[in-house]
Amino acid sequence: MKTTAIVLAGGSGSRMNSKVKKQYLLLGEYPVLWYSLAVLEKSSRIDEIILVCGKGEQQQCKALFVDTYGFQKIACVTEGGKERYHSVYEGLKVAGNCDYVLIHDGARPFLDEAMLTRLADALPVWNACVVGMPVKDTIKIANPDTGCVQATPDRSLLWSIQTPQAFRYSLIRDAYDTLMQDEAAGTLDQKVTDDAMVAEYTGNTVKLIEGSYNNIKITTPEDLVFARAILEQQGEQ
Ligand code: C5P
Repeated sequence: MKTTAIVLAGGSGSRMNSKVKKQYLLLGEYPVLWYSLAVLEKSSRIDEIILVCGKGEQQQCKALFVDTYGFQKIACVTEGGKERYHSVYEGLKVAGNCDYVLIHDGARPFLDEAMLTRLADALPVWNACVVGMPVKDTIKIANPDTGCVQATPDRSLLWSIQTPQAFRYSLIRDAYDTLMQDEAAGTLDQKVTDDAMVAEYTGNTVKLIEGSYNNIKITTPEDLVFARAILEQQGEQ
């Protein structure tokens, strides 16, 4: 069984207010993107990595992560698209000959082997699995017109979703093919913010797997402060 990891680093990182894109910002000794690549490189659960970078960044990305840092599992560095789901689709097109695919945001440096094991154990049963954690805050649904509270969903049922998100390749590829056809036809009427949504879009059941509260996505400058604290804490263990 072959498992390919698609690592996404094609975003603009506009909310970081930095000239350097967030995936290349230094976190301790290495760029943010290095940390998830290192976990995937080391894991026996992953056979190959496809790195999706921004437009015009292929050479730079290859030079840094393949030549300088020496990640041997990186089989291909390909360019992403306008939205996250376009970038995933570019990765899926390259990942053609695998049984399972794991899709991960390069902006989440703290995935770990335990998480990969939980996903790998659940995949043959469920074929579509995503990591996340139960929310700690109360979540409100806002009325888009008034900005007032419209509803308060039962917190015990709410999860905050992370990556990796892992799928049988044929399932997620079929789902993405349908999504892209619908987008081309102008009939896609929702914002696609993760891969589980795409699997759900074509009627698949998605299993929730425990991630970790440390598995944060670096989006804004304060996330980097938090990330440095996590890194420091890990160094002490
Ligand atoms: O924008 P957001 O924080 O949701 O991005 C999540 C991940 O998707 C990041 O690792 C980012 O680099 C990636 N991404 C991408 N292509 C895009 C937009 C985001 O690969 N067009």
